[in-house]
Amino acid sequence: MAYQALYRKFRPPVWEDVKGQDHIVTTLRNQIISDRVGHAYLFCGTRGTGKTSVAKIFARAVNCEQPDNGNPCGNCESCRTALEGTNLNIIEIDAASNNGVDNVREIIDEIAYSPVKGKKKVYIVDEAHMLSTGAFNAFLKTLEDPPEYVMFILATTEAQKILPTILSRCQRYDFHRITAKVIEKRLREVADAEKIDTEKAALEYIARAADGALRDGLSLLDQCVAFYAGEKLTHDRVLEVLGAVDTEVFHAFFEALQKGDVIAAIDVLDEVVYQGKELAQFTGDFIWYLRNLMLAQTAEGAERIIDLSAEQMKELREQAASTDIGVIMRLIRVFSETQAQMRYDVQKRTLLEMTVVRVCRPSSDSGEASIEARVAALEEQENRVFAALRLIESGAFTPGANTGQQEKKRTEETTVSAVSEEDKKKWEVALPEEIREVAAHWQEYIPSMSGRLKAYMQALPQPKLSVTEDGRKLLIVLFHKQHADAFGSYPALLEELEGILRSHTEKEVPVAVEYMSDPGTFGRTYPDLSEIIHMRIEEDEDE
Ligand SMILES: [Zn+2]
Repeated sequence: MAYQALYRKFRPPVWEDVKGQDHIVTTLRNQIISDRVGHAYLFCGTRGTGKTSVAKIFARAVNCEQPDNGNPCGNCESCRTALEGTNLNIIEIDAASNNGVDNVREIIDEIAYSPVKGKKKVYIVDEAHMLSTGAFNAFLKTLEDPPEYVMFILATTEAQKILPTILSRCQRYDFHRITAKVIEKRLREVADAEKIDTEKAALEYIARAADGALRDGLSLLDQCVAFYAGEKLTHDRVLEVLGAVDTEVFHAFFEALQKGDVIAAIDVLDEVVYQGKELAQFTGDFIWYLRNLMLAQTAEGAERIIDLSAEQMKELREQAASTDIGVIMRLIRVFSETQAQMRYDVQKRTLLEMTVVRVCRPSSDSGEASIEARVAALEEQENRVFAALRLIESGAFTPGANTGQQEKKRTEETTVSAVSEEDKKKWEVALPEEIREVAAHWQEYIPSMSGRLKAYMQALPQPKLSVTEDGRKLLIVLFHKQHADAFGSYPALLEELEGILRSHTEKEVPVAVEYMSDPGTFGRTYPDLSEIIHMRIEEDEDE
């Protein structure tokens, strides 16, 4: 028998097998039982959350000759042909490859004919947001007045791209991301059914790596099993196959950073690169590790929200106990910035090394000339990168009053660094004192915020501070839409925040809030206050 990918083989045949979407399953199943099926459905949710699986069960149940408690029976002709993929009443369309008006016309022409056998023609349109506007409009006519025997199921990862006129005609169901625990349970079932010997920690890791998508979890399991065919699947082997880094490495990296030991930290990076791991992934995983460290230290009963084995948890707690929360939060902030920059910079390794140097700031008496040289080289690189970034950004918020001399310098690559520093200073001078003060002490204000406000300000990616265009208000840029929206819906949030700023600075600091989807573009759109503050700290140290 040909090898079948696990996620295909274990595509759930009945409602009971759908994982983590109980709210949807119950409703759809009841519709079958009570014979009140609608004619248009929209399934939304991130990839791998079961949209297509549910659509297929639903389509089979609708056409089944003797559904059993809302489930397709699996035995009647309709069910059998559906499972073989030859049922003419169940039509799957991949909008990603058939998105034109002509394709939709073809479908609509077909719709005119009632099914020869069976009850309903079910059209499952995958990636529905990929349909062209013309195709959507052609669809709309049919959706307005569909024949009795037609049913549409549109599945999409991007509901916001579906035309409102289509949305309003569909019953909408939002698929949740699936928790690591539910994914792990399903992986366990599959592994047992396939007689794959696995360590619990191995499945835990895969479930976490699946990041809310059950299908990804099964695919990852597939990869691991294929690599170690017939052998026990251990945690180490999973890490090996998935190119992941063990917590021990993060532990060592964190220790080095905490001690300010640049060389030890860079040795860890060398090892990571040598093992062929991806540095962007390493950075992301390290941030996750720091997040766990932070929770282990601050949250009661953190075990429930941290996905680790008891043994790993014990180690984490030990490390957390000897660490200052401020240090962890600073690292999260710094490495999140690095992660965002990595998307635009090919020199991932240099970026990461720069970050290490920034974090460690080795004192000048650390000996060996080679270390000094390396650090100096890296710092020079850092300056050049900042200068380059500055140049890109300068169009957005450099005052237009540059002197001719500065303009000239700007064009000479070797001296851009000086200009950009000047620009920074000029811009800083224009900054109201109270806003500067708030930016410099921002992290100290957070503990005095109430639950909700605090949660928003500590969310990852962390909100960024800037100023409004007129330079008079503190601008907080949030990277979660619902958080930004909450400020609109609950004026009390803004009042609380302004109150906190008032009590700390003894001045009025008006606040504005903005939402931005991509943290990586923040620095190119708004002046970054943390950078100004960073520069001030450096100057202070020079004195
Ligand atoms: Zn049946």
